[in-house]
Amino acid sequence: MMGNGWAMGWTAIIAAGLVAVSGLSAREVHGPGFELVVIDSLDKPDGPFWFVPHDNEAAAWRVGLEALQAHGGRLVAVENAGRRMWPAPCPVSCDPNRSLGANPYGDAVIRLMSPGQPVVGLHTNAPGRRGLGAGAGTTWADARDRNVWMPRALAGFADGDALAIVAGTRPKSDAAPPCLPNFMMGGAPMLYEEVRDGGDGSMSNDLALRQPERTYVALEARHGDDDSLRALLAILMACPAYAQP
Ligand SMILES: [Zn+2]
Repeated sequence: MMGNGWAMGWTAIIAAGLVAVSGLSAREVHGPGFELVVIDSLDKPDGPFWFVPHDNEAAAWRVGLEALQAHGGRLVAVENAGRRMWPAPCPVSCDPNRSLGANPYGDAVIRLMSPGQPVVGLHTNAPGRRGLGAGAGTTWADARDRNVWMPRALAGFADGDALAIVAGTRPKSDAAPPCLPNFMMGGAPMLYEEVRDGGDGSMSNDLALRQPERTYVALEARHGDDDSLRALLAILMACPAYAQP
């Protein structure tokens, strides 16, 4: 097993009975070049749509499962044998979070969402400020970055690696992202992506372009930092767009 402890992939985890014990039902959706694990809350089907596209981001998977059990809804994870990238040749991109859009994979993911269901992307990343390349330390909140909303006081999120990410087609100055006041009050930074030119194939970009009415927030922390992801989740789930009535 690799360092994250889940490198065997989601399918093996489900086969090992680690998921099916707690009011959840799991199945797989297969398409050309991709496999999705779909786990539904039997008790609370009306919760959010939890999306874990990177099979090497174990904390995202673990916190996603916790969130599904606590808040209900549906968790969709890309099954990829514990890897971040699909093996080449890849139909769109080899990155499952750069391949969303009008294609069999992107359409399959969108079809798994209920009308009006809010979406939460869950990710982990390498520590920032190192320039390690895509998916490895390039996503972090810098107070000097004009695309970041920074709270007055960072409550345990001072390294900038734990943050919320939203996207839209308007300039940041015109954007009114969901839950921004909650993250500012909660002491966590929020990063804004202005989507241009058809987007980058990420979930945030795809929804901003194809389903702009749908609520989407991504939560991201360092690899293995379950606690920061949980802290971000707690802020998010107090936000009216996500909180259950
Ligand atoms: Zn990721």
